[in-house]
Amino acid sequence: MATYKAPLRDMRFVYQELFNGDDLKRLPGYEDFSADVVEAVLKEAGKLAEEVLFPLNSSGDIEGCTFENGVVRTPTGFKEAYNQFIEGGWTGLGADPAYGGQGAPKALNILVEEMICSSNMSFGMYPGLTHGAYDALTLYGTEEQKQLYLTKFVKGTWSGTMCLTEPQCGTDLGLIRTKAVPQSDDSMKITGTKIFISAGEHDLTENIVHLVLAKLPDAPPGVKGISLFLVPKFLPKPDGSVGPRNGVACGSIENKMGIKASSTCVINFDDAQGWLVGEKHKGMRAMFAMMNTARLGVGVQGLGLSEAAYQGAIQYARGRLQGRGLKGAVKPDKPADPLLVHPDVRKNLLTIKALTEGTRALVMWVAMAQDKSEKAENEADRLRHDDLVQLMTPVVKAFGTDSGFDNANLGLQVYGGHGYIREHGMEQYVRDARITQIYEGTNGIQALDFVGRKMSAHYGRYMRSFFHPVQQFIEDNASDPEMEDTVIALAKAFGRLQQAVGSVAQKGMSDPDEAGAAATDLLKLTSYVAVGFMWARMTKIALSKQGDDPTGFYKGKLATGRFYMTKLLPQTGALLSSILAGGSSIIDIDNNLFNIEAA
Ligand SMILES: Cc1cc2nc3c(=O)[nH]c(=O)nc-3n(C[C@H](O)[C@H](O)[C@H](O)COP(=O)(O)OP(=O)(O)OC[C@H]3O[C@@H](n4cnc5c(N)ncnc54)[C@H](O)[C@@H]3O)c2cc1C
Repeated sequence: MATYKAPLRDMRFVYQELFNGDDLKRLPGYEDFSADVVEAVLKEAGKLAEEVLFPLNSSGDIEGCTFENGVVRTPTGFKEAYNQFIEGGWTGLGADPAYGGQGAPKALNILVEEMICSSNMSFGMYPGLTHGAYDALTLYGTEEQKQLYLTKFVKGTWSGTMCLTEPQCGTDLGLIRTKAVPQSDDSMKITGTKIFISAGEHDLTENIVHLVLAKLPDAPPGVKGISLFLVPKFLPKPDGSVGPRNGVACGSIENKMGIKASSTCVINFDDAQGWLVGEKHKGMRAMFAMMNTARLGVGVQGLGLSEAAYQGAIQYARGRLQGRGLKGAVKPDKPADPLLVHPDVRKNLLTIKALTEGTRALVMWVAMAQDKSEKAENEADRLRHDDLVQLMTPVVKAFGTDSGFDNANLGLQVYGGHGYIREHGMEQYVRDARITQIYEGTNGIQALDFVGRKMSAHYGRYMRSFFHPVQQFIEDNASDPEMEDTVIALAKAFGRLQQAVGSVAQKGMSDPDEAGAAATDLLKLTSYVAVGFMWARMTKIALSKQGDDPTGFYKGKLATGRFYMTKLLPQTGALLSSILAGGSSIIDIDNNLFNIEAA
């Protein structure tokens, strides 16, 4: 049986020790979030994740959602857990107090999200999608829309969705066919079919509010003609209570690989009453604002599953006896040694541990930058922090989820055949993790976003928000003998990244296919360096705290950091070679040669 314990010690480390989270108290609106309050929130969230959400993870996976006569039921226990969730105020933790929220820093909220994803990713989809809808309405809704809908989202009594995908249109949203027809009042009639809509229909809330991309009759073709609309399942009465049913219906739910307790729905809009959100034809702008937070959230789903997989794998590797250590018996009194003695098993475990803790630190760096940007007192400060958020969003999304899937897979490997069997829970993590690499823009699209938009934005200004602190760190620590190995490894990988960026920028200028062919490698190379930077910073702190380390926490950090720098960061060398080789072997091959017969 899998178990889950919230990793509060490491969360405290990244929040307080690595990034001085207590400083956030100085930002307007965060005054109440002292170290004690942060600690209390983390502990309570840990309890909720361990005692309420985790026990429903496997049963929810086995039972899944059911669909009958247009009604979707979540698995047994989900409704009760959701009620506990909203009674505890978790839907409003990071929300604006003006709408009933608690106004917590994003950095704190994201740690809570991680615990939810580790313990029950399917459950987390329901409040997660509402969070996305909340963000879009916060930025682009009218004050009237905000007062009505945001307060319900914050209470958790109404939930939200993001309706983009249609049968003929996934990545390419320019192909959307759903139509919006203006009415004599300020409303619209929305007609069309959306597919794969997470939390599109369920039994957890009294209303579901769909944020729908559709086209007005006078829309220009392509993505420039898309607008965003708000379409509730039940039309609200003037007093804000639930009124008559709108023309929105769930046609079916998908039978899918993972996150089986999260409903994935076909939603049919049939002359449904809706309202424009933001300006007409500017729906993509609103969607992107919401997607940035959502993409970080999906990266955190990957992180959460990495943590869960690690906890299962390390526990199993300590208990399962197989074979003897290569240098002789480690436990001669036992019939065999624990799996943990075998170098290959240790490598698997250390890979998961190093990527998980490194990604958690990276997520925290970005979340704190989000907080500092949002609360900045001047435009220069706002931009300085936001540049990093913009640059790192595709990094966190793609690397967090690629390593989430790889880590879940490695965790399963540690269990051998027993990992492949449902009872231990490891195969569920692999299945659940797989979708995170696909939705919110596939990881291939994240790479294109990174190379096509983020890398070149404002003549490289976003890139500088990352390069400058790395360079500074290397210079500041170059003469510290204790940091020597770490700094050399980081500097080498950083040099590779600079060379790769230069090469892709130069080749991509004359041939966009060259940039496209290098995009995934470059995003991965950037990710390894970003996580390497995090490990270098964590190593520095751990070195300074070795004198007070009763549990061996800092020793563990130093050992894991050393593993990352010597065993994982060198992958930047292979990625650079692939990038410097250029894209012709990908681009120039004749399409007919992809045929099996041609081989
Ligand atoms: C469980 C689940 C939940 C989902 N939840 C939601 C939801 O709540 N709301 C919603 O609107 N959608 C949702 N989706 C849809 C999801 O976002 C899409 O599946 C995803 O965006 C990819 O679109 P597609 O499946 O049509 O693939 P396609 O767009 O057909 O892409 C297929 C492949 O081609 C690649 N590709 C496509 N275009 C390009 C390009 N220009 N350059 C390079 N590569 C390209 C992609 O990376 C991908 O690997 C969900 C999907 C699933 C399975």
